[in-house]
Amino acid sequence: MTDSTVANHRSLEGKVAIITGGASGIGEATARLFAQHGTSMVVIADIQDQLGKQVASSIGIDKCSYVHCDVSDEDQVKKTVESTVEKYGQLDIMFSNAGILSSSEQTVLELDISRFDRLFAVNVRGMALCVKHAARAMVEGGVRGSIVCTGSVAASHGLKSRTDYCMTKHAVLGMVRSASQQLGEHGIRVNSVSPNGVATPLTCRVRGKSAEELEKVYEPFARLKGVSLKVEHVADAVLFLACNKFVSGHDLVVDGVYVPGSSSTTT
Ligand code: NAD
Repeated sequence: MTDSTVANHRSLEGKVAIITGGASGIGEATARLFAQHGTSMVVIADIQDQLGKQVASSIGIDKCSYVHCDVSDEDQVKKTVESTVEKYGQLDIMFSNAGILSSSEQTVLELDISRFDRLFAVNVRGMALCVKHAARAMVEGGVRGSIVCTGSVAASHGLKSRTDYCMTKHAVLGMVRSASQQLGEHGIRVNSVSPNGVATPLTCRVRGKSAEELEKVYEPFARLKGVSLKVEHVADAVLFLACNKFVSGHDLVVDGVYVPGSSSTTT
């Protein structure tokens, strides 16, 4: 008799998941992987409506749906969670992944506070709202669910620039460590996944580089050689956290052994 779930292609059978930022990058790869592993419904919650709808229909309208949700707005997050429970019966997994990057390489000397506030609104307030409303729905529904937040290698190291982004990701770990303590009694697990630099539409756009160019830029950030980090590697780690039954309060780094201070541009 085994309670192992991970190496099984039906490991998420019947589960209902919300993935914020699921229209692109890490969230999109995770939506595809969850659907392959048997989720009954993946709800992509994003602000890129056209792209989100395209991704959902390419996964299959019986397995994936799209909802417009700006995670920085509590009302929209609450409605997204409520409508998911109403339509699909319950919420088992929240992958709180939506995030943005600072748009410039500023150090603390040049901090632009209006950009700082927007970054915190999405990366920190958005993350907190998703954890709050997902946890409420799980407690109310008696679901022993799993909440996974996207951190970053910048959550446990300082950066040479992008101070504001680094601060937002440190805050994500504070939420995971506290919420996992508080929700354990309800059987709810809370973890984070922390990738090294990975080429996604977000990072390619901010750096003005193609995926291939960016992978070369990121090479020195990992001690592990001969492989570039891909969104699928991060999605695999999220799948593990979504289905393992006893890991909670953990930050799962997917970093090929991060090299701190190797550059100012790691995310
Ligand atoms: P991405 O831009 O490809 O995907 C992010 C998605 O989030 C987009 O679809 C975007 O529309 C959505 N989004 C942005 N603001 C939103 C909002 N207010 N409400 C709802 N959705 C919103 O980027 P990605 O690289 O896949 O980033 C996903 C997460 O991974 C982010 O939290 C990012 O900080 C984190 N991360 C990325 C890297 C990297 O190198 N790419 C490294 C570490 C951590």
